[in-house]
Amino acid sequence: MNNDQVLLALSSAGLTRVTAYEPMTRHTSWRVGGPADFFGVAETENAVFGALKVAREAGLPWLVLGGGYNVLVSDAGIDGIVIANRVRGLTIEETLGEPQIHCGAGVFFAKVAQETARRGFTGMEWGIAIPGTVGGGVVNNAGAHWGDVAHALISATVADGDGLSRTMTSDDLAYHYRQSALKERSATRSRFVVTGCRFHLERDSPQASLARVDELRAHRLRTQPVKEPSAGSTFKNPPGNHAGALIESGGLKGYRLGGAQIAPMHANFILNAGGATAGDILGLMRLVQERVKDLFGVDLEPEVQFVGRWPDEALRSVLGIAA
Ligand SMILES: Cc1cc2nc3c(=O)[nH]c(=O)nc-3n(C[C@H](O)[C@H](O)[C@H](O)COP(=O)(O)OP(=O)(O)OC[C@H]3O[C@@H](n4cnc5c(N)ncnc54)[C@H](O)[C@@H]3O)c2cc1C
Repeated sequence: MNNDQVLLALSSAGLTRVTAYEPMTRHTSWRVGGPADFFGVAETENAVFGALKVAREAGLPWLVLGGGYNVLVSDAGIDGIVIANRVRGLTIEETLGEPQIHCGAGVFFAKVAQETARRGFTGMEWGIAIPGTVGGGVVNNAGAHWGDVAHALISATVADGDGLSRTMTSDDLAYHYRQSALKERSATRSRFVVTGCRFHLERDSPQASLARVDELRAHRLRTQPVKEPSAGSTFKNPPGNHAGALIESGGLKGYRLGGAQIAPMHANFILNAGGATAGDILGLMRLVQERVKDLFGVDLEPEVQFVGRWPDEALRSVLGIAA
């Protein structure tokens, strides 16, 4: 298939906003990253399967993105087809023994939190603090305050590149802190796509649940630079410690490298303070790791995922020998 045929096939498969050489600056919260060879938005499960079929027939790699809130896309861009997962649908079911929410993997966590609270359920309020889709959260074991995907998830529908779907439970996904059986620390292609998920709920009053959502939202606004371009926590908290506290103790709060800056408000956030490249952010991450290692003997492991055409040596420098 030539480029025009790939674009036509993606549109025919039901993807929208299909383009070639789409800058990832438009689709990532850090606002960095080079172009994807091909890009399209999948709002239905069928569109996802259609995109996978096009990738197979064209012999192209494919990569799924949710909201792009936890990825550092290389300045050199991404090979093959980027499928922006916006699979819709949100239903609450009360006939299965316990209330549960079933939603498309492209639904945003904030919507899940808001909708379940508004309809008088508790269990997902913490989702208000997670920018991004539930599909991305299932991969990352996203969590905040008292909740995380590992504890809330009943099951996820996961397809492979051949379009074969299976249902995976929280146990199947082998969750631990910001980690799952589906998560890659770096990827030029995806191997699986989450298309839908079910979460546990319990009955509560809308007033009580909405009050918790509002409280968590206000707490975030007070404590994190949520309105500036970042990917949230850059590093995982090392056992018994806080990455932000170590970086701050290393004197790096506010430190700038190119357009990348350690957030003055929260040292585990790296901001695109204006004109940053992915290379600037990677360089600053490396500098942070070296300073924290030198001063405190602690290895900081990235929480964000590296996506696209990264040179092996660049990844090795921040991910260690496993890159
Ligand atoms: C201001 C801010 C605050 C944050 N606070 C938190 C927090 O408190 N707790 C927390 O856990 N995270 C936090 N994050 C990080 C982010 O919100 C989560 O990691 C979230 O789960 C990312 O979802 P996403 O849809 O944007 O995933 P993306 O960033 O688009 O993707 C992440 C990875 O998952 C893969 N992926 C995405 N969707 C799918 C899918 N459907 N199927 C298969 N693979 C997929 C991608 O290929 C990529 O490897 C924060 C981020 C920001 C910007």
